[in-house]
Amino acid sequence: MKAAVVTSLSKPLEIQERPAPRPGPQQVLVRVEASGLCHTDIHAARGDWPVKPVPPFIPGHEGVGVITEVGTGVPVSRIGERVAVPWLGFACGHCEFCVSGRETLCEKQQNSGYSVDGSYAEYVVASADYVVAVPEGVSSFDAAPLTCAGVTTYKAVKVAGIRPSELVAVFGIGGLGHLAMQYSQIAGASVVAVDVEDDKLELARELGADHVVNARKTDPVAAIQALGGVDAAIALAVSPKSMGQAFDSLKRGGRLVLVALPKDNELVLPIFQTVLKGITIVGSIVGTRRDLAEVFELHAAGRTRVIAEGRKLDDVNACFSEILSGEVPARLVFEF
Ligand code: NAD
Ligand code: ZN
Ligand code: ZN
Repeated sequence: MKAAVVTSLSKPLEIQERPAPRPGPQQVLVRVEASGLCHTDIHAARGDWPVKPVPPFIPGHEGVGVITEVGTGVPVSRIGERVAVPWLGFACGHCEFCVSGRETLCEKQQNSGYSVDGSYAEYVVASADYVVAVPEGVSSFDAAPLTCAGVTTYKAVKVAGIRPSELVAVFGIGGLGHLAMQYSQIAGASVVAVDVEDDKLELARELGADHVVNARKTDPVAAIQALGGVDAAIALAVSPKSMGQAFDSLKRGGRLVLVALPKDNELVLPIFQTVLKGITIVGSIVGTRRDLAEVFELHAAGRTRVIAEGRKLDDVNACFSEILSGEVPARLVFEF
């Protein structure tokens, strides 16, 4: 099979021909039809985070395709099922987090495209219990970005507790942000979209943003405070500075949800303002299998739009550069 492989955390990815993997007990083999490019894959390939992946590995955690083979313990009837292979590749199912609906906090979890090989390949092995069925009304192309960008922001909106009539700021209208806006709107909120690229803000307008701010040209804090501040801010831009701006944009009692994972791992928070304004700050990591099923249901019902362009896996390194230059619409999806 063809695969894009990280051979070193300081080198471009290599396109390699490899034998297709075989599913072990409780696993399935998935023939990949589409695989989204999440900014996390760039962090993974460059070793940006404190816990680093070990090369060689295959990135990708927005994989969607069809089960072609099952390992022992998995019913043969699952062959032919179309599924998504998300970041949460495996969790133990028994710990206090797994049994309380918080499987994304499981300490025994495996992560697709990070601790185990992911979907930048024609085939991927996945845990039979942790793939999520893709309903008929959702194309594999659309399902791919929903598998991480969608579920992550759907969860962030839940974690933010967004209610009708609230004003929400979405910082970073990329793969995650264009969906965060839509889930905020579904929850009944008005949206302020913040980015540094005019094209992204134009997209935000098209998706119904009530206000847009180009943080490269205008101070987003002043612009948002002029609106009275926001009830909640969702921080999706790969920039600690932007996260600080998201904090400063909150009104009293506001909630800040941290989602982006910049390499620079520090955010300085003013204690006085946090306390006196009664601010809540919370981290949000992807979403559960149930969250992803809900994301697919919403899309099948026509409630969300995925903005993405198709690419060939051979162009993976050029695609990374495209994302970093901010020139892509929202998401890139490798099509097989
Ligand atoms: P992306 O590159 O598609 O989007 C980032 C957006 O931020 C772009 O539109 C960019 O123009 C904009 N931006 C850059 N600098 C900015 C600034 N200073 N102010 C405002 N906007 C700015 O990335 P993505 O795939 O949406 O991922 C975003 C981040 O979220 C990454 O760090 C990724 O690793 C992380 N992530 C976290 C989770 C989680 O579960 N917590 C899940 C997926 C991704
Ligand atoms: Zn992701
Ligand atoms: Zn667990």
